Amino acid sequence: MLRFGKKKKAVPDGLFVKCDGCGAMVYRKNVQELLHVCPECNHHFRIGAWDRVELHTDEGSFEEMDADLLPCDPLKFVAKKAYVDDLKRDTEETGLSEAVICGTARIESRPVVFTAMDFRFRGASMGSVVGEKLTRAIELATERHLPLVMVAASGGARMQESALSLMQMAKTCAALQRFSKSGGAYVSVMTDPTTGGVTASWASMGDVIIAEPGALIGFAGPRVLKQTINQELPPDFQTSEFLLEHGFIDMIVERKDIKPTVAQVLSYLT
Ligand SMILES: [Zn+2]
Repeated sequence: MLRFGKKKKAVPDGLFVKCDGCGAMVYRKNVQELLHVCPECNHHFRIGAWDRVELHTDEGSFEEMDADLLPCDPLKFVAKKAYVDDLKRDTEETGLSEAVICGTARIESRPVVFTAMDFRFRGASMGSVVGEKLTRAIELATERHLPLVMVAASGGARMQESALSLMQMAKTCAALQRFSKSGGAYVSVMTDPTTGGVTASWASMGDVIIAEPGALIGFAGPRVLKQTINQELPPDFQTSEFLLEHGFIDMIVERKDIKPTVAQVLSYLT
């Protein structure tokens, strides 16, 4: 059994868990043994960034970089609560200092630069520090001629950082463009949910784009779109399956197959 996470887990402990996919009460141990996938309906539960490290990379190979880069509050933003307090709470609850972890690792012995977002931290929104950490990871991959594997999950831009957050889209994309020009190979893995500015920037720029089954992937949410275009949307709109059918992503890969599949894709690309 794959034991996820030395750090705090995305799925809290308890004997049974209710599946978001089929609504069944399933035995938590079974779900864990299946890499946090429902044994009844194959629903892929959300998992954290450290779980991703464990799932995708060779054991003990991940070396985190820029762990000391902490989010800041340049606008001194206060909504219902102060942004700094939200950051503090998320850090306490997740053990993470930001919504992304980046580093070097090996995938089936192949050295890579690996990044993973964590939805539990501010909805994995891309603030200026998330953008900076990702950009540094991309630049490291460029400098060392390493392939890049980036696992996306995101609620979009970090509203509390306003325009500074939006700039991260251009920054990460520019870094990826330089990476691509230098001949680098980039595999993007989209997980539930990948939305907003992350979909609109680096997550969609992979040489190969893989998605987990049933993931919500889109830019604006279906409610906003429906109001804007005043039309009914297809029932499976903004799912991995819908996007594969329409050529937006390259493949849908189940969690149990993700590591060997990414390794195989990298062997084709590099
Ligand atoms: Zn289920």
